[in-house]
Amino acid sequence: MGVASILPYACWDTSAVPDAPVSAELFARAQRVIPGGVNSPVRAFRAVGGTPRFMVSGSGAYLTDADGRSYVDLVSSWGPMILGHAHPAVVSAVQRAASSGLSFGAPTLGEIELAEEIIRRVNAAAPGGARAPLEQVRLVNSGTEATMSAIRLARGATGRHRVVKFAGCYHGHVDALLAAAGSGVVTLGLPDTPGVTGAQTAETIVLPYNDLGAVRACFAEFGSDIACVITEAAAGNMGAIAPLPGFNAGLREITSAHGALLVMDEVMTGFRVGAAGWYGLDPVDADLFTFGKVMSGGLPAAAFGGRAEVMGYLAPGGPVYQAGTLSGNPVAVAAGLASLRAADASVYAALDGNAALIGRLAADALTAAGVAHQVQYAGNLFSIFFAAAPVVDFASAQAAETYRYKPFFHAMLDAGVYLPPSAFEAWFVNAAMDDGALDRIAAALPAAAHAAAQARP
Ligand SMILES: *Cc1c(COP(=O)(O)O)cnc(C)c1O
Repeated sequence: MGVASILPYACWDTSAVPDAPVSAELFARAQRVIPGGVNSPVRAFRAVGGTPRFMVSGSGAYLTDADGRSYVDLVSSWGPMILGHAHPAVVSAVQRAASSGLSFGAPTLGEIELAEEIIRRVNAAAPGGARAPLEQVRLVNSGTEATMSAIRLARGATGRHRVVKFAGCYHGHVDALLAAAGSGVVTLGLPDTPGVTGAQTAETIVLPYNDLGAVRACFAEFGSDIACVITEAAAGNMGAIAPLPGFNAGLREITSAHGALLVMDEVMTGFRVGAAGWYGLDPVDADLFTFGKVMSGGLPAAAFGGRAEVMGYLAPGGPVYQAGTLSGNPVAVAAGLASLRAADASVYAALDGNAALIGRLAADALTAAGVAHQVQYAGNLFSIFFAAAPVVDFASAQAAETYRYKPFFHAMLDAGVYLPPSAFEAWFVNAAMDDGALDRIAAALPAAAHAAAQARP
């Protein structure tokens, strides 16, 4: 849920929603007691207009809203639900854990097992002869906490203060990382939101994604002050933009040469694009990894990890403080572990196959309607840019004809397909999609493509 999703690129049209009366009523009620009626901004449908659908249940590939309408879900809770909703193995693991107590604030066996599972999966993809990159992980409650803690650890371990991030990459709502400002070779960070002070982002340097020249220039000037570079393993929060071949490896080379750490944010890609996450597709030896979403099974859990000599800086063994009342919560851990254990090769084959099929169907429909588009993949993450040329960074993402997405989205929604309510979000498939789900998507696309063709800025 990148910051791009709340940019005011489309007006908010609340008038035309007679088709979801119960959701409309709930939304009005929610707005009285919850700011904007939602607990995370993208859910409010501001980028596409209309009434956000209040969901009452999910099963497999489908969601059911408060008006009793069913949707094929291409959001999958923004990533976690790779197995589909209410997967029996996950639900029963959660029930078993819950009946043994909800939280102890003391260590449990499940935390070890989840840490071991994450470590095993990633290290299994390490190239032969290479030292495995992941020796220890610490569990936290959200991806935001994972990246915030990784940055603190990188600063604590290096004794340096500056952090480099890329425009359009989202790492949660960490103050220091809510800067995506501008382009140019070196843009010193300016905050994206009131409430984040210039001081909090002053040590954040924002560079254009996929531009190693900009990274080299930045290190030439500030190299000895830079604690770390943080990057999404593949960008998924400005639409799906894969790193260009050699980009992540180049970041490794440059950071190593200057004694800075490389933080690979796999909160979105981790255990979704493959059993070992993006590392399994492009094994770049990062110092720290962050995980969330899929490893949580849909409950609040996330993690960050790396080699023991870096993780050893963390309290209680080391001086860098990091803590959490509910960290490693036994119910969340049970959900994550059951989810990962159920995510076998057949699940990843289904995710890849569904992503390839849906992307192809969308491209065919848009081509038939005469709409210039790019279906862009980063593993099995994908999204559609209404652009004539491939999108490689935030500037080219913003230059796309985003106004076409609103009518496209609503045509799909009306036909029972729930897409991300923002053009700047990836589409998340799950492995539970049956022929009925795929047929519904195929049937909905031609009218949606036609609506996109008719759109005017
Ligand atoms: C979702 C996301 C986060 C933030 O995770 P939350 O659990 O929403 O705090 C961080 N990094 C990336 C790459 C993400 O996609």
